[in-house]
Amino acid sequence: MIRAYKFLLRPTVRQRQALGDMLRDHCSLYNGALQERRDAYRHASKTSIKYGQQSAQLKEVRAFDPERQGRWSFSSQQATLRRLDKAFQAFFRRVKAGQKPGYPRFRGAMWFDTVEFPKDGDGCRWDSTGHDPVTRVRLQGVGHVRVHQHRPVKGRVKTVSIKREGRQWYVVLACDEVAAEPLPATGAACGIDMGVTHFFTTSQGAHVENPRHGKRNADALAEAQRALKAFPRRTRETRTTKHRRAVEKVAKLHRKVRRQRLDHAHKAALCLVGDYDQIAHERLSIANMVRTPKPKPDPEMPGAFLANGAASKAGLNRSILDAGWGVFLGILAQKAESAARVLIPVDPRNTSRTCPECGHVDAQNRDGEKFQCTSCHHIDHADRVGAWNVALRAGLVLPDVA
Ligand SMILES: [Zn+2]
Repeated sequence: MIRAYKFLLRPTVRQRQALGDMLRDHCSLYNGALQERRDAYRHASKTSIKYGQQSAQLKEVRAFDPERQGRWSFSSQQATLRRLDKAFQAFFRRVKAGQKPGYPRFRGAMWFDTVEFPKDGDGCRWDSTGHDPVTRVRLQGVGHVRVHQHRPVKGRVKTVSIKREGRQWYVVLACDEVAAEPLPATGAACGIDMGVTHFFTTSQGAHVENPRHGKRNADALAEAQRALKAFPRRTRETRTTKHRRAVEKVAKLHRKVRRQRLDHAHKAALCLVGDYDQIAHERLSIANMVRTPKPKPDPEMPGAFLANGAASKAGLNRSILDAGWGVFLGILAQKAESAARVLIPVDPRNTSRTCPECGHVDAQNRDGEKFQCTSCHHIDHADRVGAWNVALRAGLVLPDVA
């Protein structure tokens, strides 16, 4: 099993400076390598430069600029070149598929925020001072940086990344060989229905609320994005302080929403995994979730468009909600695997309009939050019916559901 950890760093003033330099120099390496590929691509011969060629030049680059490039870990620089290579591979893949992707872009210092170390012990060392009660991570060119390690690390540290978010610095670890910790069987199972009014509802009828302040933060983010859009397009040279502040505000709110979503998802998943051996959920299609649907041309009336649900799906609130479910299911899968619980994804079609008592399918069965079967008159909460149907579809036996 693989697990990721993220811890806040507590660098000294000097280390903070060095971390900033490390990011700046990796950014200029990235942009320099991009420039080289760009020039080659624009050349009449349309030469494409490969990762191997750029990696082979690293030694020279370091020798040529020992103050800036020679100072940092060779492996982390290779990782940065590989990231560029990935961007290019994605670009050429999409060109091949007949799409019109944007050519990989130069990264401004604001938008380049991560340095990766592909292997612990190579240019970096997690827990570099084992005897010390304070955890530290050693980074080449920076030193032993204090880590605020708020939980124990399990498994073997594979890769280490350093990330800047606003004014904070973080270390992100990816560990493998994480041992499973099975939980004792409870003999209980449930289905869950993910919704808008409630984050999800179980087949037993328990509602889990949406993240607290979720709506408020989403509104604040939408507002900040509107404010940012009001600025005319500017080049880096003419960017004003006001504009930069607006950019920072959006980034900060994004992080806040993301952090809150993660927290909430962890708590909700932990509850489910603690209580149930088997958990059935609707299978989500990520593609449908995140993108706003394309307008459907109306075959009868050229130039007109059919309703496609865009209005109901539009809006930041909605997309944040959707992203939240994706994050939640990912975390749930991780926790279920560790605890030896079974997750069963099912086809979500008609789960909200099928009567769980008699099986009658009718859109009229549902009226907002109220479910009333038009055939057998079974009455229930609509979200609970959805969850119940999900459980039935997964073949779960629910003795505690009447
Ligand atoms: Zn019925």
